[in-house]
Amino acid sequence: MVPGKRSNATTNNYITVNGQFRYRDAEKTHQLKPVRHFTLVIDESNDKTGLENYKNGGPPPSVLLTSAYPITINNNNGTFSQSIYTSKAWMMVTFDIERIENSHVIYKTFRYIDKNNYEDVSGAFNVSTTNYSTINPIVDLEESSDPILETIRREASIADRIDHALTTDIGNGVDLGSLQTVYIVTASSGINNQSFANVNTDPSLQTNNIQIGSDLTVDLSDAVIWHEYGHTLQFALNGFKKPPEAGGAHFLDNLVHPDVAYTEGWADFWACVVAGNANLYSEAPYNANLNLGSTHYTDFIYKFPLSNGNYSLTGNYLMYQIGDTHTPYYGVENEAMVASAFWSIKSLSGLSSVWDGMKQFYYGTTHYAYNFMEYLADNPSLSSVLSSYTYQLVGMAPDLLL
Ligand SMILES: [Zn+2]
Repeated sequence: MVPGKRSNATTNNYITVNGQFRYRDAEKTHQLKPVRHFTLVIDESNDKTGLENYKNGGPPPSVLLTSAYPITINNNNGTFSQSIYTSKAWMMVTFDIERIENSHVIYKTFRYIDKNNYEDVSGAFNVSTTNYSTINPIVDLEESSDPILETIRREASIADRIDHALTTDIGNGVDLGSLQTVYIVTASSGINNQSFANVNTDPSLQTNNIQIGSDLTVDLSDAVIWHEYGHTLQFALNGFKKPPEAGGAHFLDNLVHPDVAYTEGWADFWACVVAGNANLYSEAPYNANLNLGSTHYTDFIYKFPLSNGNYSLTGNYLMYQIGDTHTPYYGVENEAMVASAFWSIKSLSGLSSVWDGMKQFYYGTTHYAYNFMEYLADNPSLSSVLSSYTYQLVGMAPDLLL
């Protein structure tokens, strides 16, 4: 990579970047699509060798000017135009898949090296023109056997799906982009094979992490990406607290601990919301441990087991504030049923009701929900709505509605 030299090394100068940035959507349409949101990074120095070394992983030159321009592409051919200000002799232009709006980082992408080691990779490009009033960097991220280039392409694909999820209308003026910063980590090869979400250890940073695994058809599917993003929303709505973790594979029709079913059911529900499709997971393999059509398993999810029929944060409720113990009630132990119950509340009361209900759990620093029973207990208006409704089971074919 060779930095480009400006025609006039001593005079400040405006340069117009007329560029094009696209990625090959290998996961879905196989077409070239625009990278709709990225950051144009300009690194400048009078030290050509120092700048080259820096771009190849070395230390920065003694004097380095870096400026960043958030770019949004609203057309379908990926072209953009941006005026930039330069004042040094040599410069490099980099496309960084990072979405910034109003100085807030909505998401930023990284390459997975190992579980403790990520790096920020991006397309860095030589500016070869000698006319520095205009430069024309054109980049198409194609499928590649090069692990870094392929990872950048996948970053663009994941970012495109996150962009789509961000357009979801929660109602009540909710701006999903302002809620948090999401760090997205992925890799091109089989060195990591799981997708998951995690919350940063410092809640004040308001940052959550997503890892998207390396299986092109599974991990990079809409359903998985939106599911993992859904986890980050739950974290953000609950004070950036870390809920109990699933800690391994889970299935739509498994019985698991109620905390796991709640967290995974929320994420399944969210993915269905983004897709506008309650049957998003209908093609997912089932582990067949649970008869989802049995009212024996489903009844309880409307019926919190207090003798007076109410929901409460005291009394018997506490024995079900479990976290890691099974309940006598299978529904809250199954993510598909939890997702279905969320979906039913959305159908009856709107997405904003489900959303606001999720927020009810955070009381200062003392409490957040561990399972779906707590969700109902903290939202009696939603539980009463749900109790009179026959819900639609998320992930099943329409003729299997319960
Ligand atoms: Zn999950």
